[in-house]
Amino acid sequence: MATPKSPPALDAAIIGGGPAGLVAAVYLARLRRSVAIVDASQSRLATIPRTRNYPGFPDGISGPALLSALREQAHRYPIEHRAGQVDALERTEEGFRLSWQGGDLTARVVLLASGTSDVVPAMPHLSQALRSGLLRYCPVCDGYEVIDRKVGVIANGPAGVQEARYLRHFTPDLTLFMTPDAQSLAPAERERLAQAGIRLAEGAVESIREWDGRISVRHGGFETACESLYSALGLEVHSTLAERIGARTDESGYLLTDRHQETDAPGLYAAGDVVLGLNQIAVAAGTAAIASAAMHLALTRREPR
Ligand SMILES: Cc1cc2nc3c(=O)[nH]c(=O)nc-3n(C[C@H](O)[C@H](O)[C@H](O)COP(=O)(O)OP(=O)(O)OC[C@H]3O[C@@H](n4cnc5c(N)ncnc54)[C@H](O)[C@@H]3O)c2cc1C
Repeated sequence: MATPKSPPALDAAIIGGGPAGLVAAVYLARLRRSVAIVDASQSRLATIPRTRNYPGFPDGISGPALLSALREQAHRYPIEHRAGQVDALERTEEGFRLSWQGGDLTARVVLLASGTSDVVPAMPHLSQALRSGLLRYCPVCDGYEVIDRKVGVIANGPAGVQEARYLRHFTPDLTLFMTPDAQSLAPAERERLAQAGIRLAEGAVESIREWDGRISVRHGGFETACESLYSALGLEVHSTLAERIGARTDESGYLLTDRHQETDAPGLYAAGDVVLGLNQIAVAAGTAAIASAAMHLALTRREPR
């Protein structure tokens, strides 16, 4: 009996369907490349109440609305959409094999657009606090919204000092809260806080709650209410699939690429938050455009003309 023939490799596969993956898919489809996106549907974009720094929207746009517009744009083209969490990326003779629970596919080149996920503070009603702007993650995104407000930063180490000093540009009323497992701050770091007029909260954080339209932090027996609390607890970078096939990362786990967004694993490109750089939607779209144009050229070079 003849063995069933596996389908031919696609030109390109994209892991991740946030802004980076969706923009790249549209570029590749318009460059007449066969392309599939495999997405676990956990885009950070979906959690943004309203972004006001993404170009082209004078009054801002909500993350979910922008994500659905990007998805709708991608649906206008013959792009395969598969739901799943890719758990293996391997090399084949032709390029790569991706597999996930219930599916697999092969492609000649791959874009990793798998993003990052935030380490979240322990508190009830987290998504509600994000939606109302009581909890925030990114001063580049929304520091403008907290000008002269009473703001807190929660951290588990010196990154909190850096975040609080960054926010000092926007507001003079700042308190740094440390988690119970936090590394203690060196005298020089405490001095930097004092010089910037930033309070270091006494005692470790005991609990966080929304209270009377504010975010209230209990620490060392005290309670301090803020208008917004920034989390400086860090991010998990989703770079493991690439690292397993030889792509290098920096010490924080961000993928290193060349100026065409190609990683050290030839034929594997990366764009968006998973790449070292500024974690921003515009950057995700920009790096996706660069990567997809380079992927098309790399494929063209392999084709007889
Ligand atoms: C609260 C908040 C507010 C923000 N505000 C702004 C703002 O105002 N302006 C701005 O520019 N940026 C803002 N950002 C940052 C912005 O959301 C990100 O920069 C952007 O979403 C990055 O896009 P991305 O496509 O790289 O990653 P993501 O949007 O995170 O998408 C990655 C996708 O890959 C999928 N994935 C991961 N691993 C796998 C796998 N193994 N297999 C299949 N799929 C996988 C994920 O499920 C997800 O769907 C904000 C972020 C947060 C959290």
